[in-house]
Amino acid sequence: MDLNVANCPRCGRIYAKTLRNLCPDCLREEEELYEIVYRYLRDNPKSTVQQVSENTGVPEERILGFLRQDRIMSSEWSQLTYPCERCGTQINTGRFCESCNQEMQQSLDSAARSIKGKNADQQRSGYHIGTRRPR
Ligand SMILES: [Zn+2]
Ligand SMILES: [Zn+2]
Repeated sequence: MDLNVANCPRCGRIYAKTLRNLCPDCLREEEELYEIVYRYLRDNPKSTVQQVSENTGVPEERILGFLRQDRIMSSEWSQLTYPCERCGTQINTGRFCESCNQEMQQSLDSAARSIKGKNADQQRSGYHIGTRRPR
């Protein structure tokens, strides 16, 4: 018995698991939508997400999904923006805006520093204990 199956999150059907998180039918539909969006953007590079959605019939959510997965790189299509998942600022690549990326990087850095600082303290006190002459 093959237990390597899952419920498709989109249509609920049970399917044999693949690398992608969708059943083959939904995957095919997804690829078709992607093709439609991609071709539309190639011909109309300065479109907004709303315009693409209106003119292709592809729901905005799905277009945003392609953008968030970086399947559509919007550097050439700078009108294509969507909200940062953290603060809602309009962005056109990845999941977070520049300042959120920086803030998250900084908090990671300071977390790393405070861990390092603790280790340094421990090493210092260890050094003192280690060099104290026994009476
Ligand atoms: Zn499905
Ligand atoms: Zn942000």
